[in-house]
Amino acid sequence: MTFDLIVRNATLPDGRTGIDIACESGRIAAVEPSIAADAGRVIDANGHLVSPPFVDPHFHMDATLSLGIPRMNRSGTLLEGIALWGELKPLLTREAVKERALRYCDLAVSQGLLAIRTHVDVCDDRLLAVEALLEVKREVAPYIDLQLCAFPQDGYYRSPTAAENLERALDLGVDVVGGIPHFERTMADGARSVTALCEIAEKRGLLVDLHCDETDDPMSRHIETLAYETQRLGLHGRVNGSHLTSMHSMDNYYVSKLLALMAEARVSAIPNPLINIVIQGRHDTYPKRRGMTRVPELRAHGIEVAFGHDCVMDPWYSLGNADMLEVAAMGLHVAQMTSRDDMRWCFDRVTKGGAAVMHLDGYGLDVGCNADMVLLQAADPIEAIRLKATRLAVIRRGRVIAETPARVASLALPGRPATVDPASYAPKDASEDAG
Ligand SMILES: [Zn+2]
Repeated sequence: MTFDLIVRNATLPDGRTGIDIACESGRIAAVEPSIAADAGRVIDANGHLVSPPFVDPHFHMDATLSLGIPRMNRSGTLLEGIALWGELKPLLTREAVKERALRYCDLAVSQGLLAIRTHVDVCDDRLLAVEALLEVKREVAPYIDLQLCAFPQDGYYRSPTAAENLERALDLGVDVVGGIPHFERTMADGARSVTALCEIAEKRGLLVDLHCDETDDPMSRHIETLAYETQRLGLHGRVNGSHLTSMHSMDNYYVSKLLALMAEARVSAIPNPLINIVIQGRHDTYPKRRGMTRVPELRAHGIEVAFGHDCVMDPWYSLGNADMLEVAAMGLHVAQMTSRDDMRWCFDRVTKGGAAVMHLDGYGLDVGCNADMVLLQAADPIEAIRLKATRLAVIRRGRVIAETPARVASLALPGRPATVDPASYAPKDASEDAG
């Protein structure tokens, strides 16, 4: 028997070690120790972690890599970011949007990030970014699952043509219904927009992903309406609330009721740790709120959680590197989820959590799944986060599409080792009750 590819001696995210993964015709054909077969290509994982690819379920590909055009965001606030994007929009060309998006996808592949849900602004009557990203989606399909969400950045009601443009974008093939209720003129308009958007999704059989309550205002409660409309329209498991930062500041009693309603409607949540920690709390003196939503509490209620990157080098965020391990690291720090179990759970939030929210087919490392995976220079998921580990090999449909040499430093110190491999610093016994 000859397979297309075998990855030997891998550690899997669930803790299994010494595992071989055989790939054939783009799918995983076997996952077991010591597969006795040849392959067109054999990769020795050398005991390192092999994970399903990273997933970013919340991104803005129409704005990425535009940093500094036409100027920088000086206040660092969400509102100046939106105003700045408004200045940039008339300057956009289809070619420039497409070129930046494709360039970002190159970076994503090098980081093992092979599935992205991007919001695309539909408040430009030309729908230039929609058309550009639909083209990008088709072009990158061999290596990235790109899902588009119709996002009325300037408000579904607040922007006069947003409602019509959103329907036009969906007609063109955009996959998901978006919204921004906290940016409408009034709380009442915000709530009405949630109802209207959920009804559109129900009628068209689409998923919903709203920018929801991205504010420090504890009275911003559109997530309550979102959970209500989800259960009213029978959209259970098909609706996501992105950000939900107001929940950080809400009254504790109110949240105890809200979380049960979200769980009942199976509404998922996407915190965006890098962006939430820099954008929220900007109006505070001290104590200064962190602004990220209540991640451990969402977990405790069995609510699906995925972490998003949201922005890379755009009007809202100057940094970022398509590195979902950096996102997971920030998420666990801000949520103070530092037990071994919590950190492993955070790794899953940038892999299978995002896959669940995006309803990806064939995702995972089981037999029959797509042969998509990442070999990391790390012993396990916690080490991968700690090290922001090098992506030694990125595999799509059984073919290696990106490789990075192992990070090994050479030392010139008398009496000390000649090299330093960061992955060799993994704890010997990393179990919960070690020591
Ligand atoms: Zn966003």
